[in-house]
Amino acid sequence: MQNKQISEIRNLKDEQDAVILAHSYQPPEIQDIADHVGDSLELSRIAASTESSVIVFCGVKFMAETAHILSPEKTVLLPEPDAGCPLADCIEVPALKSMQELYPDALTVLYVNSPADVKAESYACCTSANALAVVESAPSDEIIFAPDRNLGTFISRQSDKTIHIWNGACRSHAIADLQDMKARMEEWPDAELLVHPETPPAAWELAHAVLGTGGMIRYVGESSVERFIIGTEEGMVYRLRKLYPDRVFTTGGNIYCINMKKITLQKISDSLRELKPVIELDPRTREKAFAAVARMTEVTG
Ligand code: SF4
Repeated sequence: MQNKQISEIRNLKDEQDAVILAHSYQPPEIQDIADHVGDSLELSRIAASTESSVIVFCGVKFMAETAHILSPEKTVLLPEPDAGCPLADCIEVPALKSMQELYPDALTVLYVNSPADVKAESYACCTSANALAVVESAPSDEIIFAPDRNLGTFISRQSDKTIHIWNGACRSHAIADLQDMKARMEEWPDAELLVHPETPPAAWELAHAVLGTGGMIRYVGESSVERFIIGTEEGMVYRLRKLYPDRVFTTGGNIYCINMKKITLQKISDSLRELKPVIELDPRTREKAFAAVARMTEVTG
């Protein structure tokens, strides 16, 4: 059954001149069918430069919206329209504007995990890979950082700028199970624990390194350590195992995002056949958000 679905998707992809992008948190079978697997920054850059006329985005809604903002002439499909992100949903324009009124000299740096209309009110977007570089490159010593408080705290500890942090969090990472991380470290005393900056600061204290998903990939590639405990969404373990079959990986912290698991092979196939659901934004919002998103893709992490 799965083989039939895979060959159907491959045929439809050619017929529709489509490219399939998948985030590293996607389930194994989705990562395997994708043309590109990566973090938000990598996928945004591919979305901006692809020559395919259709982009099938296997991730959550804000990611597909970002692809549409960067490539408005392309058809961007999100095979499961209900794949949302609770972190993105925790910020709305009126509340951000109230914070901007409180700090009128601050520039807003917005984590890309946010809605398009909020991006439109921001100076620049960032991902976990380049958040510090975006904050440092912003032409102000005062920054509003939203919506992830853990990433904001992580950045503020490395910057001399005054950073006002929005009190939002990724539900999956913020409740990372520290006891599970400790137990894995006891089981594998020679292993290194890598955690995502969306996890709470107490997890950073345990970890050997705090990194976004792209950073984890580079870190493992440059390390001579054999075993790693991965403190981010469990899909990342599959990606690392594929990239580094000579190393050993296990999950740490029981971090699971239900929204990242909503896309299935059947939904990709249906989406490609019918060319829907299409991501659409109000053109004014899209144009206003473009500057903030473009700044994000220009800054190297
Ligand atoms: S892992 Fe967290 S930030 Fe990422 S999509 Fe899921 S809820 Fe949103």
